[in-house]
Amino acid sequence: MKQVYNFNAGPAALPREVLEKAKEELLDFEDTGISIMEHSHRGKHYEAVHEEAKSLLKELLSIPNEYEILFLQGGASLQFAMIPMNFMKQNEKPGYILTGAWSEKALKEAKKIGEAEEIVSGKSSNYSSIPEIPSLSSDDYTYVHVTSNNTIFGTQWASFDNLEHPFLIADMSSDILSKRFPVEKFGMIYAGAQKNLGPAGVTVVIMRKDVADKANKELPTILSYETHIKNRSLYNTPPTFSIYLLKLVLEWAKDLGGLEELERRNKEKAKLIYDAIDESGGFYTGHAEKDSRSLMNITFTLQNEELTKQFLKEAQEQGFSGLAGHRSVGGCRASAYNAVPMEACKALKKFMNEFQEKQGN
Ligand code: PLP
Repeated sequence: MKQVYNFNAGPAALPREVLEKAKEELLDFEDTGISIMEHSHRGKHYEAVHEEAKSLLKELLSIPNEYEILFLQGGASLQFAMIPMNFMKQNEKPGYILTGAWSEKALKEAKKIGEAEEIVSGKSSNYSSIPEIPSLSSDDYTYVHVTSNNTIFGTQWASFDNLEHPFLIADMSSDILSKRFPVEKFGMIYAGAQKNLGPAGVTVVIMRKDVADKANKELPTILSYETHIKNRSLYNTPPTFSIYLLKLVLEWAKDLGGLEELERRNKEKAKLIYDAIDESGGFYTGHAEKDSRSLMNITFTLQNEELTKQFLKEAQEQGFSGLAGHRSVGGCRASAYNAVPMEACKALKKFMNEFQEKQGN
C-alpha cells in the first residue's frame, strides 16, 4: 500500500488500529454473523455500542453526571441552527465571539432565528489571534457562543480562564479530545466527529441538564433537544456505523493513555511543524499569532503563490496529503489531529527543511 501522510483538515485521519479492527469485524460483528451496520438500532448488540460510546466519552473528557451526551446528525452546521431555535428567548439576545469563518456561520444562522449580537471579532486581523474577551454579563446575553479551535485560520483558545458567563456554548468540532478542558464551565459543547472523534455522520452534543430544561419545547420534534434527551439519541435511526467507529476511536484513545497522553503528543507534533516555520528565517510564515496557535491546524504561507504551488506539488508527490490551505485563506495548512502519527509530523518537518534548502535559502 502507498505510504500517505494524511494532513487533511476533515474528514481527517483515523487511527490505523481502529480501521483494522473495523475491517476485522465488518462482516461478522461479535459472532452475530452480520455486520454492526445491519443490526437494529433497538437491538441489544447496537445498544451496547451506543451506551459504551457515551460512557467512554464521559470517562475520557471527565464529563460530570449532570450532563447529557447526545449523538445527533446534520453535522456541527445543524447545531448552528438548533442552538438559537432551542435557546433564544423573546426580548433577549445571545452573543457570539467571532474567531473565524465557522463562528461567523454560527452567528449568521442565529440571526435568521432572531436578534443575535457579535460581542467581539478578530476579523480585522484576518482572524490571526483570539481577541481580548470583555466581561460578559448574563443580563446582556442569554448565552455566549465560542469556537474553541478555528480550523481554517489555525488559531485556538489557549485557555478559557478569562471567559465567564453562566451559559457558555462551545463549538469544539476541531479540537475536542485533543487536550484537557473544563467541561463544567460550559452549558453546551458540540462537535462534528470527522476530525478527532471518528468518521463524518455523527455530531456529539454534551449538554448540562439545567440548560436542557430551558430549551424551547414547541419546535418540530426532530429539532428539539428534549426529544433526543428523552429518547437517548434513539428517537430516529442514529448513524449506527459512525457511532460504532466513534466507540473504537475512544477505546483507542483510552488505551493510548487518555487525554493527557493525547495532549502531550499533540504538543510535540505541532511543535515540530511550528519549529520548521520559526527556524526558516521567513521562508515560511505562520498565519496565527504565537499565543493563539492551534495544536490541530497549522497554517502557513510561503513567499509567493508560485512557490506555494511548487511546495504543494512536491509534497503531494512525496506522499503528503491535504496540505493546501482552505480556499478562503490560501497558503498551506497541516492538520495534525489525534490520529496523525508523530512520524508524519517529523517527515513533514524534514520535507519543509529540505524544500527550503533546495530553493537556496
Ligand atoms: N465548526 C468547525 C470548527 C469546523 O471545523 C467545521 C467543519 O470543518 C464545522 C463547524 C462544520 O461542521 P459540519 O461539516 O459537521 O457541519
